[in-house]
Amino acid sequence: MSKSLFTESTKNLKKAVPLMMQYKVPTTPLNYALWYTYVSNEIPELTEELDNLLEFHKVCPPVQAESLYRTFVADKAESSTWKLRNDIEKMLIGLTQSIKDTSEDANKFKSTLDKTFSDLHRVQDEGWSIEELMGLFRELEGNSKKIHNATNFFSSSLNKAQQEIESLKTQLQESQQLALYDSLTGLLNRHSFDTELSALLQSDNSGLCLILGDIDHFKKFNDQYGHLLGDQVLRAVGRRLIESDRDGSKSYRFGGEEFAILLPKSGLRRARQFAEAVRVKIEKLTLRDKRSANLVGNISASFGVSEFTPGDTLTTFIARADELLYKAKRLGRNRVMPP
Ligand code: GH3
Ligand code: MG
Ligand code: MG
Repeated sequence: MSKSLFTESTKNLKKAVPLMMQYKVPTTPLNYALWYTYVSNEIPELTEELDNLLEFHKVCPPVQAESLYRTFVADKAESSTWKLRNDIEKMLIGLTQSIKDTSEDANKFKSTLDKTFSDLHRVQDEGWSIEELMGLFRELEGNSKKIHNATNFFSSSLNKAQQEIESLKTQLQESQQLALYDSLTGLLNRHSFDTELSALLQSDNSGLCLILGDIDHFKKFNDQYGHLLGDQVLRAVGRRLIESDRDGSKSYRFGGEEFAILLPKSGLRRARQFAEAVRVKIEKLTLRDKRSANLVGNISASFGVSEFTPGDTLTTFIARADELLYKAKRLGRNRVMPP
């Protein structure tokens, strides 16, 4: 591992950060991922659009940044996570090399010292002149300065690298979160659902069940109480789902006000009971409306449950749960189908 590869690996990081500062871009994980991708020049369309934006606005407006992120980077979140991890690994390898280099320098110094000591003995034995002695000391002093500088250089680059590793670690964690979780509800996101379901279908899928849930009359709720309280409902429902997960079941935000729960090795009967328990929890939810200080209840959701059967594809498996969900809506909502 050479020094140049060590430098190369952090090139994108070092390019992105000053640019972000120049354009006063907040260092959020989203922006970080966006600018990281931008400086890597991987996506010409992104480069072009961001260049145009910067030329026009001289800053990067947050909403535009978010939209660029969604369009060009979001699907790549995983690959940039992978790159970050790679960068950290390369940085560690670079550091190990620095440590080796320093210890080689130290070894060289030690042999110089050894030589100097044996020279000192010769001074005694052979009766060196004062000039010869001074020359020996000068050489010793020069060497010790060199090793001193090398050690200083090493410890300051070690400090810098440690800081960089710490911030990369945090960013890595944040971008992993970003890639897997929905930021509003804290539930796993749709992308995670798709990946997990494909994986489950490849493995032993007997008894695998899917619950799809959809909040009832949510448009009306938003109209009546406002989007902010609507968001709070979604958060509260998310929390109930996360708390309910057991025996390997996992809950996801499937879409706007739609949720999905995957239950491996469950069987339809248990999955329906599970859905019923969640339905009751949601029915019991009450939130305080800050505008009127009133308690708001009357929140409910409808559910469709399907069990994976031989011959199913991913699409038919989801479609069956979806049809049952709409049946539950038609029958009057706030219920689980099949009953
Ligand atoms: P139904 O009982 O048939 O499901 O009726 P509905 O009103 O819930 O269904 P519809 O699909 O007509 O409307 C869904 C609503 O969910 C519309 C949309 O504004 C709202 N919604 C989706 N995502 C969010 C969100 O993140 N926050 C808020 N507050 N509302 C959301
Ligand atoms: Mg819906
Ligand atoms: Mg709905």
